[in-house]
Order: sequence, then structure tokens, then C-alpha cells
Amino acid sequence: MKYYSTNQKAPMADLHKAVVKGLAEDRGLYMPERIEQLPKEFFQHIQDMSFQDIAYNVASAFFGEDVDLDALQEIVYDTLPFDCPVVKITDNIYTLELFYGPTLAFKDVGARFMARLLQYFIREEGQEQVNVLVATSGDTGSAVANGFLGVEGIHVYVLYPKGKVSPIQECQFTTLGQNITAIEVDGVFDDCQALVKAAFMDQELNEHMRLTSANSINVARFLPQAFYYFHAYAQMKRQGLADQLVMCVPSGNFGNICAALFGHRMGLPVKRFIAANNANDIFYHYLQTGKYEPKASVQTLANAMDVGDPSNFARIYDLYQGSHEAITSIISGATYNDEQIAETMRHCYAATGYTLDPHGACGYRALSEGLAEGETGVFCETAHPAKFKEKVDSILGIDIEIPERLAAFMKGEKQSIAMSKDFSDFKQYLMRQS
Ligand SMILES: *Cc1c(COP(=O)(O)O)cnc(C)c1O
Repeated sequence: MKYYSTNQKAPMADLHKAVVKGLAEDRGLYMPERIEQLPKEFFQHIQDMSFQDIAYNVASAFFGEDVDLDALQEIVYDTLPFDCPVVKITDNIYTLELFYGPTLAFKDVGARFMARLLQYFIREEGQEQVNVLVATSGDTGSAVANGFLGVEGIHVYVLYPKGKVSPIQECQFTTLGQNITAIEVDGVFDDCQALVKAAFMDQELNEHMRLTSANSINVARFLPQAFYYFHAYAQMKRQGLADQLVMCVPSGNFGNICAALFGHRMGLPVKRFIAANNANDIFYHYLQTGKYEPKASVQTLANAMDVGDPSNFARIYDLYQGSHEAITSIISGATYNDEQIAETMRHCYAATGYTLDPHGACGYRALSEGLAEGETGVFCETAHPAKFKEKVDSILGIDIEIPERLAAFMKGEKQSIAMSKDFSDFKQYLMRQS
């Protein structure tokens, strides 16, 4: 399978190149040249299949030409040693809980899959170590660090802003050791990102070591998220509830919902999708007006969705050939401010006993307000509410229990390298690493 760039000005790439490089030369995002329809029999039997087997079928359609099938199966099985159940909340609203990976958030699946696929390609070419640089304001760093943990041939450097990351998040990437190095930058998130960008541009450094990124625009990170939607459909079908299904995805960079739309293109029988946003309403605005106008992001309670220029918009636009009509016929939007998010969390907790996290709250509310007669809605709970313990506790007036897995991180010893925000210091440090 070949991959083209959404900017149409770079040469086609094979999967290997698309995964190792991430972004095309023209700064566009890679798109597969074909999206295979899955066979009818697959959908006839999907309700009897395991999450792993469903995922393997989906993965084969994307990656089966370029990855040995036994290896691909092993990668998929290794990525999904857990289930993601659909849980009933009200008569017509269900949630797909995507928080059973190592850091209790949905990005774990894409991060692990990408780590294993990158490792497959490195082994295939018999090449030396690859170094992944990732800047984080919290969640991405922990998913990437845990996804790549112990994966031979790859070293990960996580750069994060000193004092700007919550203690629960920080311990998820500073206590790991092995092939994960946490770098605490004396600056803000933008300084971390600037250091990573400068490193990719520095010729001497790139001659010294092989560098790559692991951000969400990578095809190996976003496509595996399609697995979730087939698995949700299977569970709803098993209960006879899949006829008029509406799937609702709390969205920031739009990678997760973009994967869902790829699933739809492969034949997944979902009636329509809703992209639920916090106060960062750029996509919502596009749906209303047909104009895409990126803005600076604003800080909200659902901070993993604080994105003012969602990267995967380019993929959605390309998937529907830029047709506003085609896009609005399959996706609608919703946007909620912090007050509405908190109110929704309180209302849902009081009425149903379910603890929403601030991101999932946007999804729940969009379905409560947006379902038509006869439709059944499934929204993603993108992270475990305990990941946002301070906020959830104060909004709901509870003391939410921290799951064992999160608590285990907090017992580990924090190890990190202190770094200034000067590129020359960072470069010197990397030049001393092999
Ligand atoms: C990353 C993230 C999102 C947004 O997902 P996108 O793929 O960027 O749209 C939503 N919720 C949580 C908890 C996240 O970490």
C-alpha cells in the first residue's frame, strides 16, 4: 500500500517510510491510497469475535500488504491484552470505556501499536537504534513512554515542562527507567516542543543519531484507533442494539474520530458520528459555516482536547474530498464550556451513578442533547476519571479511588534529567548519548 500526503506535493511513501518519518516532506499528513471494504461475512460474525480478532481483521486491511501476517497478528495481540467494554448508562446512551491500557487512556493502543510496528521495520532493515523524541504537556508523554517501554532498538526521550504537569501524570513517565528517559525542561510546553523541532532540524545531531517523532499524526498511531469502533459495534449488535447507532467521540486533535470515519469507510454500519468539543470549537464552527479558522487554544477542564488547530482535520477534509456537504451529512458537532462540563458530570452522577471524566462528559452531553427518536448512542470515555482526580473530586464532591495501576506508578521513584530551554544544552546532552 502506498501513502500520499494530504498536501499533494510530496512523493508517495510506503508504510515503512510513513511510520518512520511521520510527516510527509511537504508537511502534509499521510493517507492510505485505498481503504478496503471489509467483507460481508466479517460483519455477519463480528458479534462472536474477540476484540483481538476483530482488530486483527481491521489491521490486515490496512497493513496486511506491508507487514508479514504472523508478525501483524502478534503486534495486534500484544497491543490489546485487555478488553474495552460498552457500559449502559441510560436507556439509549452507552459508553465505550477506552481506559484499560497501561496509562488508563485511549492513546495507549495507538502508542503501543506504533512502537511494535516501528520495531518490526527497524528489525527488517537491520538498522541501528532509533530515538523517539516527544514533547508533552502530560497525556501524550505517558502513553508514548508506556507504549514504547521495553521495546528493543528504540530509546524514548520525553520532554515535559517543569512544574506544569500534574503529579499523577508526571509519575507515569518519570518512574519507568529502561529505554525511557524523562527530561524536565525549565520552561513551558511550547519550549519543549521547540527543542524537539530544533533537534529534528539539526544536521549534526541527525548524523550522530537516528531521530523520529511519535506524535498523533503518525499513521501507525491513529489508524489502530479504528479497532475500538468495530469492537463497540460488535458489542451493540450482540445486544440487538446496532440498527441506528450514533457514535460520539470527544475530540481534540481529531485522530480518534478520524479513525472511526476510516472504519465507516470500510463498511462499519454506523448511522452517523458526533464530534464533541470543549470550548475549543474550531471544528464545530467549520460544520456551521464551511470555514476552517484555526485559533489559539483556550484552557479547559478537558485539557487533552485543548487544541486550536486540530491536525487531523486535514485527513477528514481529504477523506471527503473537501466537500462540506459530505462531511456534515455524516458528522455533526457539539461544544461545551467548563460550566456545562461540570454540570453534566454532576447531573450524570446524580441521575445514573456513573462517574464521567471531563472529556467523556462532552460526549455524554452531546448524545443526551442530540439523539433522535429510535437512535442508540455510544460515546467514548477516553480516560479513566481518576486521571483527573482533583477536578473530578471537587466537581462531584467525592473521593474517587485511584486504580491499582495508577497507584503503582505513584510508588515508583521519579527520575529525570534537568534541562534548560536552550537548544545548545539539549543538543550537547544528546550528542553524549549513543
Ligand atoms: C487525546 C485525548 C482526547 C482527544 O483525542 P483526539 O484524537 O486528539 O481527538 C480526548 N480525551 C482524552 C482523555 C485524550 O487524552
